[in-house]
Amino acid sequence: MVNKNIFFVHQAQTSPHPIAIQITKAEGVYLYDESGKRYFDLISGLAVNNVGHSHPKIVEAVKNQAEKFMHVMPYGEFIQEPQIKLAEKLAHILPSTLSSSYFVNSGAEAVEGALKLAKRYTGRKKNVACNKSYHGSTHGALSVTGNDTKRKGYGDFLPNISFISFNEISDLDSIDEFTAAVIVETIQGDAGVRIPDKQYMLKLRERCTEVGALLILDEIQTGYGRTGTFFAFEQYNIVPDILCIAKAMAGGMPMGAFVSSKSMMSCLSHDPMLGHITTFGGHPVSCIAAYETIDIIQEHLPRVKEKGVLIKEMLSTHKLVKEIRQIGLMLAIDLPSQEITQQVVHKCLEKGVITFWFLSCPASFRLAPPLTITINEIKESIGVILTVFDEVTS
Ligand code: PLP
Repeated sequence: MVNKNIFFVHQAQTSPHPIAIQITKAEGVYLYDESGKRYFDLISGLAVNNVGHSHPKIVEAVKNQAEKFMHVMPYGEFIQEPQIKLAEKLAHILPSTLSSSYFVNSGAEAVEGALKLAKRYTGRKKNVACNKSYHGSTHGALSVTGNDTKRKGYGDFLPNISFISFNEISDLDSIDEFTAAVIVETIQGDAGVRIPDKQYMLKLRERCTEVGALLILDEIQTGYGRTGTFFAFEQYNIVPDILCIAKAMAGGMPMGAFVSSKSMMSCLSHDPMLGHITTFGGHPVSCIAAYETIDIIQEHLPRVKEKGVLIKEMLSTHKLVKEIRQIGLMLAIDLPSQEITQQVVHKCLEKGVITFWFLSCPASFRLAPPLTITINEIKESIGVILTVFDEVTS
């Protein structure tokens, strides 16, 4: 038995009331605690475990690679087979202009790299980001995060950043000839699953092209099948200049990447050389896991939309629900108040279903189950949520 107090005393904390269940095993859509209690993970470890927990193909690839070699050299010097296999496969599934991948360790690092690349390539200093966005917790990423609650106490931030309203065409005029990059989540996640209009995304792309600003799409949460296509931008008929990915990309291993054209990316290797460096970025074990993840996502992708619609239909039947925003298996469910939302999340946990709230949308809770979830697993777990809704209403 572990001493759980150590978690509170010696492990740095991120919130006053962490969930603090102790996980001893994870498999598919399920987590198990030390008492053997089973939980449905309906948030995929926050949009990470899109292929389910401990997928056997990922576990095997990780074991095999760990036996061959793990870290051998900081990123970019040695040729490592897992890295080149992954880079080639990504180039194959992405539009032809997104052909060069720089591998890092996390989403925030992907955003940092993308912002630096845009500044370097355009020679411009200004950036535009969206209100209510979330791009990560490091200083640069937080500087383009449009959420005052998360920024409170951590200023000053990077200069020359202006914020526009997401999905507001009239705001696009503030993207101008001085703008290096506009960074946008294709679907705003932490803001409570905000799905932009097709027209907005087309105009955003057009405006960036018109003034020579680079469009950075943050698909850290929406990537890897979450919205029903491999990347959400495919549903908008646009292509970003730089794409940020992370979270689900390595099937549960830590990894991120920013992807651009080869000519753009080459800026980072000269004047000065080593313009962006990372010791662990592109770790071979993460890269081989990421390589295997692509096929597993593609196998499950065809049924994502149908599964998302089923969840929405089941939950919409309940009178407690005010609104549901859903795209693929990414859902925000609005309830009457923040208090009721918290009650629902807590009661679901007690009954073995893990859901979670949004910091920027407190009267709403999120669902983002593994794409591998079966129809029966959906019926059983959403049935539990409906029972909780009944209890909260009565
Ligand atoms: N961008 C988006 C849209 C995210 O949702 C997140 C994390 O939640 C990040 C960036 C930051 O990723 P990481 O936590 O891996 O640094």
